[in-house]
Amino acid sequence: MLRRTKIVATLGPATDDPKVLDKLIDAGADVVRLNFSHDKPEVHMRRAEDARDRAKAHGREVGVLVDLQGPKIRIGRFKDKKITLQEGDKFTIDVDHPLDEGSEECVGTTYEALPDDVERGSTLLLDDGRIALWVDQVEGSEVTCRVVVGGELSDNKGINRQGGGLSANALTDKDREDIRTAAEIKADYVAISFPRSADDVNEARELLRAAGGHGGIIAKIERAEAVKSIDEIILASDAIMIARGDLGVEIGDAAVPPTQKRIIKLARSMDVVTITATQMMESMIEKAIPTRAEVSDVANAVIDGTDAVMLSAETAAGKYPVAAVAAMDRVCRVAEQTREMTQSTHRMDVMFERTDEAIAMAAMYTANHLKVKAIAALTESGATPLWMSRISSGVPIYALTSQVETRRKVTLYRGVYPVVFEITTSDHAEVNKEAIDELRRRGTVRDGDLVIITKGDLTGMMGGTNAMKIAKVGSLRND
Ligand code: PGA
Ligand code: MN
Repeated sequence: MLRRTKIVATLGPATDDPKVLDKLIDAGADVVRLNFSHDKPEVHMRRAEDARDRAKAHGREVGVLVDLQGPKIRIGRFKDKKITLQEGDKFTIDVDHPLDEGSEECVGTTYEALPDDVERGSTLLLDDGRIALWVDQVEGSEVTCRVVVGGELSDNKGINRQGGGLSANALTDKDREDIRTAAEIKADYVAISFPRSADDVNEARELLRAAGGHGGIIAKIERAEAVKSIDEIILASDAIMIARGDLGVEIGDAAVPPTQKRIIKLARSMDVVTITATQMMESMIEKAIPTRAEVSDVANAVIDGTDAVMLSAETAAGKYPVAAVAAMDRVCRVAEQTREMTQSTHRMDVMFERTDEAIAMAAMYTANHLKVKAIAALTESGATPLWMSRISSGVPIYALTSQVETRRKVTLYRGVYPVVFEITTSDHAEVNKEAIDELRRRGTVRDGDLVIITKGDLTGMMGGTNAMKIAKVGSLRND
């Protein structure tokens, strides 16, 4: 059985060895993530190239996801690299304090609007929530705090405000520059960090298109404001990443699981793809096997209906990058066998708006109610397989297309697999036969199997799917 849920693996120093990268892709990484919070553009360009190269060697396609750093708000650096804060200590964040001269009493920050964004009584969380500060007083450039939860604090750690409300713009100057790099890399997806609204998503898309990039835009949900505007953000995006690291700091860790479930459900119903991210196999940074809790987390994301699960430091900087992908692969496959995962009552009572959408839904209804072996969706833009993949099913959806961009984009869609396919004739019977032959060559179907074929008028036009055929392998004209 093919795995339906897709695996996003972040590349980094731990995957730079060509042998490791090769094994990572062979183990099942569908999409590689380039984390622009680290490393130079040249390094990311090389990694994208290497990953596509290795995928090609395996007869596969990988998607490339550029993840922009965004306005991560950080403290400056300490004279002695790190300090220790004790509960009850007074500690000041001062925007005028030299960035390299932090001490036990005071540290600088690159975020100049900090004093405007907080007030007495606000809680600031540093280093993904490991340190908590209560704001006692705001005066001029200084935010004076009391330490509520202490500990070690080192250079450049992130600052979040509990409950959200930091006003920083989602796209920084660095992000704008990195969007141009993403276009050059021909990234299939660009993820924006800390968007607050649909406007942030639209702005990123405009910048990417202006730079000549074709990629889809992913909104990372990691701010309290984004959760509040979730409908409009989903509508504006091609995919949503539930970025549980920063999100957990902003809305509280306990609020993350129900928020994850709600967002996945909502996005699916709005034909948008979802990625569940952060700490999924965290302990595998150091250990060769995941914890039971991590296994459950990945399985539950699959059961929630996520399109993809993501690995961050586990693959980028961990000791067991290949084992982490293999563990996710194993967990996803088993979770996908449950009954709820292979059947659907979704959209039984809605009106469809488009012909291609109606064909996609009819195909899935048929696939789930007739013993069908595979779906062959002949597609230009990938819209038909995207609709199909919103319906739970055990039947694989092959996206047959001549467009390399479409093949790479569908690497993120649950249950959809890219296949190279050129339409060389306008004879429908001939095209059906070629599509089935292609699946037969791949060992996907055998004589006697039923296959659903969807296609348009064979004009190579986008949005043209208007026909569905149920064919028996080996019984077509010319077979
Ligand atoms: P990051 O995003 O790793 O880029 O911070 C993911 C998250 O916040 O969960
Ligand atoms: Mn984040």
